[in-house]
Amino acid sequence: MNGKSKPLDIPKDLPNVIVTGEAMDKELTATVPSALAGSATGMGYTNDCVTLLTMAQYIRNLGYRAYATMNDSALAVPLAVQAGLGEVGRHSLLITPEYGARLRLGKIFTDMPLVHDAPKSFGVKKFCDICNRCARDCPPKAISFAAPSEKTFNRSNLKGVVKWSTDAEKCFKFWTNQNTDCSICIRVCPYNRDYSKWINRAWQKLARGRFRKFALWLDDKFTPRGRTKSGSWWQKK
Ligand code: SF4
Ligand code: SF4
Repeated sequence: MNGKSKPLDIPKDLPNVIVTGEAMDKELTATVPSALAGSATGMGYTNDCVTLLTMAQYIRNLGYRAYATMNDSALAVPLAVQAGLGEVGRHSLLITPEYGARLRLGKIFTDMPLVHDAPKSFGVKKFCDICNRCARDCPPKAISFAAPSEKTFNRSNLKGVVKWSTDAEKCFKFWTNQNTDCSICIRVCPYNRDYSKWINRAWQKLARGRFRKFALWLDDKFTPRGRTKSGSWWQKK
């Protein structure tokens, strides 16, 4: 831990990146922060691993170069935004129309010719402007209540980019103090819903437009966002 990184051994002449996302189990995520909820994160990355290695091998079998990576090599969230998977929320995580922020990202660097996607907006920035629930509920207050800016908190933040940045060092200190990861900001986010249900797809439509305040009120009033005890999860199984 000398603060220095090793040089990347990924070639610099790979022009394309494929970004993947694996959903975390919603019921497990409802128990954050808990050791049990850590398994939702672990399974997300495990599924990521299978998808990435399988896709990378397929691309190599086609005769191209492909390097599968997870939380290393490059920042996943900006690449996911460029790939049109979703938008960045106040908690600085990717929010997708399909799973909210409840997913784990992976990426494949390749020279396989691909048509590039473009960033897509579905109203997250304007919704986060009126919602600060993740900032309010973050125990170590690592999430900003302020508007996006270039402000950095420490060396873990990107410099020179106007965005919502979190104090990742405060966040990680909280994780280490409680001996497990946290993700409260994912649990309490109004976008954390089961979008296989029409009512949640309808909620997202409301949240996209000028009725976003009403959508936030609906979430406050009718969607339980408190922590489910780990014991209740086991009892359901
Ligand atoms: S994971 Fe927990 S501590 Fe970290 S930013 Fe989210 S709510 Fe805060
Ligand atoms: S909790 Fe609210 S402010 Fe935070 S990311 Fe989700 S929608 Fe945005």
